Amino acid sequence: MYDVAIIGGGPAGLTAAIYAARYGLKTVFFETVDPVSQLSLAANIENYPGFEGSGMELLEKMKEQAVKAGAEWKMEKVERVEKSDGTFTIVSESGEYETKTVIVATGGKHREAGIEGERAFMGRGVSYCATCDGNFFRGRKVIVYGSGKEALEDAIYLHDIGCKVTIVSRTPSFRAEKALIDEVEKRGIDILTSTTLRKVVGSGKVEKIIAYSRERKKEFEIEADGIFVAIGMRPATDIVAELGVERDSMGYIKVDKEQRTNVKGVFAAGDCCDNPLKQVVTACGDGAVAAYSAYKYLTEGQ
Ligand SMILES: Cc1cc2nc3c(=O)[nH]c(=O)nc-3n(C[C@H](O)[C@H](O)[C@H](O)COP(=O)(O)OP(=O)(O)OC[C@H]3O[C@@H](n4cnc5c(N)ncnc54)[C@H](O)[C@@H]3O)c2cc1C
Repeated sequence: MYDVAIIGGGPAGLTAAIYAARYGLKTVFFETVDPVSQLSLAANIENYPGFEGSGMELLEKMKEQAVKAGAEWKMEKVERVEKSDGTFTIVSESGEYETKTVIVATGGKHREAGIEGERAFMGRGVSYCATCDGNFFRGRKVIVYGSGKEALEDAIYLHDIGCKVTIVSRTPSFRAEKALIDEVEKRGIDILTSTTLRKVVGSGKVEKIIAYSRERKKEFEIEADGIFVAIGMRPATDIVAELGVERDSMGYIKVDKEQRTNVKGVFAAGDCCDNPLKQVVTACGDGAVAAYSAYKYLTEGQ
């Protein structure tokens, strides 16, 4: 019987594992390759205090620290979590594990746009995170691809830090609040609607994009150094659906400020939650709080 089973070996799960093990709790964490930790895809991390380097390097250091603290590491995909008499059973692809509490730290996947060359240029001009990578594009031409709130917010942010932004939207109009659209227009950000990005072109890094205008019914080229794909994220939270864990309309787990879900003994942390900022530093903060809440639950029965 574990005290804490953590589903996730990203920054949220690993921080929870470090804290839980250091509280003296019998701790296990699970990770898988699909979905892989988003941090492992980050070529450069420059905004996690005290560290500069690749995402993979940071992830490996965190994992080493979690194992050193006493947490068990299992490379097993969790299929579901079952509840029985106040405890839980983690059902993975290769075993079943009993635990008193669960911390869900499963992250999510950014949606890909399906542009030819998108994957090949990932980290070499194609990005899914303006907060993470915007700084590398100051003074340069970027495309923000999307039509919703996320795309408009990214465009405003990138414009304000000095990028030359064009928003490309597949739809004829934006799906966002008028106030946000007004902010985009006030800044004079270029907008192309009813346009699909078809192919990324460049030698080694993004140089231009072949686009297709549905209004003019023809292909054309856009010169750009970067493309920020902003069409949303899919949180990996289906595994707790049967448990009755409450999620928002996008699938993010609803948590309170102590990272508690609506199911007693189940906590959640990081990108899989309905938190406002999805970054390494916030995932770590969530993980620490989730472990603290699990510890309190186990010792004080809260
Ligand atoms: C290209 C890129 C660049 C980025 N750059 C930055 C940056 O510069 N700065 C920054 O702060 N953030 C950056 N981010 C965002 C950052 O990586 C995420 O916010 C962070 O990784 C979230 O941590 P997490 O632990 O919540 O989720 P993740 O890191 O995604 O980890 C989720 C974990 O859950 C596991 N998991 C999921 N489902 C299961 C299952 N069923 N069974 C077992 N295990 C499971 C996964 O294997 C993984 O170990 C970047 C993201 C990307 C994609």
